[in-house]
Amino acid sequence: MSASPADPQGYDSPALRAELVATLWPDADKVPARLLECRHCGRRNRVRVSAAVLDAASCECGACGKALFIPPDAPLTNISSMAYEHPLDRATLVALKALPGFSTVMRWVLSNVGERSMRLMNLSTSVRCGEDQFPELVALLDLARLRLDIPYQPSLFLSESPYANAATFGVEEPTVMVHASLLDHLDDPQVVAVLAHELGHLHADHVLYRSLAVVLAGGSQMLGSVGRLLSFPLQKALYKWMRCSELTADRAGLLGCRDVAASLGVLMRLAGGHRPGTVNRTKMRLAPFVRQARELAKLEESSWFDGLLATLMTMDSSHPFIAWRVMHLLDWVENGNYLDILAGHYDRVKRPVAA
Ligand SMILES: [Zn+2]
Ligand SMILES: [Zn+2]
Repeated sequence: MSASPADPQGYDSPALRAELVATLWPDADKVPARLLECRHCGRRNRVRVSAAVLDAASCECGACGKALFIPPDAPLTNISSMAYEHPLDRATLVALKALPGFSTVMRWVLSNVGERSMRLMNLSTSVRCGEDQFPELVALLDLARLRLDIPYQPSLFLSESPYANAATFGVEEPTVMVHASLLDHLDDPQVVAVLAHELGHLHADHVLYRSLAVVLAGGSQMLGSVGRLLSFPLQKALYKWMRCSELTADRAGLLGCRDVAASLGVLMRLAGGHRPGTVNRTKMRLAPFVRQARELAKLEESSWFDGLLATLMTMDSSHPFIAWRVMHLLDWVENGNYLDILAGHYDRVKRPVAA
């Protein structure tokens, strides 16, 4: 896969990046700012979010003059998924686990369906990537994996499917599956964003519960009558949690690609800009799409009815509205700890030292 410098959607060009920043923060006086502590000398620096998004490498500490952010390819050493977990993810998972019957269904699925049959179901028509098969895609996965400091190498499969999607499964043998159609119109930074999103599901231990959702959604005949009876309310609660877990994975996607334009570009493609009929006729622009997402967020804020409608419309869906994902991601960049993490301040896991 090339670095796709000629990609019409790429945001490598300074002019397009400037356009994105102008769209995100049209009023220069109202650009949000963050107080970031220098990891070298401890001085707190006030940094405009737009400057960090446009050119993080040139943001320096006002006291010691050293780079405020870690280098673009540096690993987030020992980062814990708690550092970027969306609060809705945790809250809905706690609610899900408290549902009557949850542990019964979970145990049943684990003992009767198991990882092996799920792998067979998922992998029967896919191509395993490795050193001698699509190593370019493996290299992009490695880039995301090393940035997120994930110490193990998941299996990577490419599957032929018209649906632009990617998936993660496997507790014993973590696996990332990429649908080939997703690669048709994404440039490399966007593919890294997708792969890092999937790695985020692994890193944050989403896989077990997501596997359960797959069984409940697609395999009701496997569950038998008891399972079907128990599974209905669980399915609703699982879908709610799955939508929230996407917000955590989107954050991992951004930490893996470290490119706001790439992460938002992927979401735009998922919203409708990846089909040949679109791509052959028009050049989709990120700026109007972000404006559209901001409008929707305002509507939700201003009207409880629209908010209710949005909830109802996504109730049976495993993924939240794309525009809501855009807004949650931007909110994290502007008001959350995204820039703190890139400045080297985040929760870490303790790893045993190898003997
Ligand atoms: Zn400093
Ligand atoms: Zn996901």
